[in-house]
Amino acid sequence: MTLPFTLLIDPVPADSTRIDFEDTFHAIDSSAPALRVAELSTQRGDGIFETLSVVNGHPQEVEPHISRLVNSARICDLPEPHPGQWRAAIARAVAEIPGEGELALKFVLSRGVEAGPAPTAWLHATRAPDHSRVREQGVRVVTLDRGYPRGVAERAPWLLMGAKTLSYAINMAALREAHRRGADDTIFLTTDGYVMEGPTSSVIMRRGGIYVTPAPSGAILHGTTQQSVFDYLEAAGERTEYRDVTLDDLRSADAAWLVSSVRLAVAVTELDGEQFPVDADLTRAINANLLARTA
Ligand code: PLP
Repeated sequence: MTLPFTLLIDPVPADSTRIDFEDTFHAIDSSAPALRVAELSTQRGDGIFETLSVVNGHPQEVEPHISRLVNSARICDLPEPHPGQWRAAIARAVAEIPGEGELALKFVLSRGVEAGPAPTAWLHATRAPDHSRVREQGVRVVTLDRGYPRGVAERAPWLLMGAKTLSYAINMAALREAHRRGADDTIFLTTDGYVMEGPTSSVIMRRGGIYVTPAPSGAILHGTTQQSVFDYLEAAGERTEYRDVTLDDLRSADAAWLVSSVRLAVAVTELDGEQFPVDADLTRAINANLLARTA
């Protein structure tokens, strides 16, 4: 029942008929050395990951996270993960960590050691930062050019857009640029002016009474939180839509949110230096709903 909790995983092939994976898991001391220096995740950022939230003992959206890991593995030509093994690893971690509060559970699949025989995988659980303030106060956002036109993922699949790779240096640089410009976060745009996503979040906006998110082309991640929020809105009788979103669409929206697994929904309060309309009650309702999920 201690944090952080770390589990090394020996990945089994996706077609393995195993149902018990316990001997493929090795709980280790999180502060002890665990990776070899030739590990390609650290040398080249060559690997993929997912971060899911565990709220009061309930891991959130396990299946969408595992499906996205499988999709990322396909894009990156990594050995396909065995969904049952990852399900079991998450269950093992949840059984070992505290059953109250908000925790972040990150799981990683890397290409392994240079010239090594097998991929490396692990899972690491920590207590989530306290996001209650930002959920209440929202974020000031600037838009930043992602440097690619719409359709780039189809034309240049080797860019691995749409895979959740470990190479987040660009995403972190974009956040630093946002801070330099006096904002808290950013929304990426294509060079031809379409809204993509945040560096660690999906974008949802409300315009003309419809809740809209950019269509998950190959260039952005299909957010698990965005899908949960759409389920919630649809159950409440609201209309939702996936479609191309221009910067003008976003500017003329009457509310917008950045949504992600651990921070949940945060309202955009300012866009490119202009005040942006906020629906504080709905933001609270969305977050209460996300926190109440039991799966
Ligand atoms: N887009 C990017 C680039 C992200 O890194 C993330 C989350 O980290 C998301 C979108 C939101 O995904 P999710 O809601 O599954 O956390």
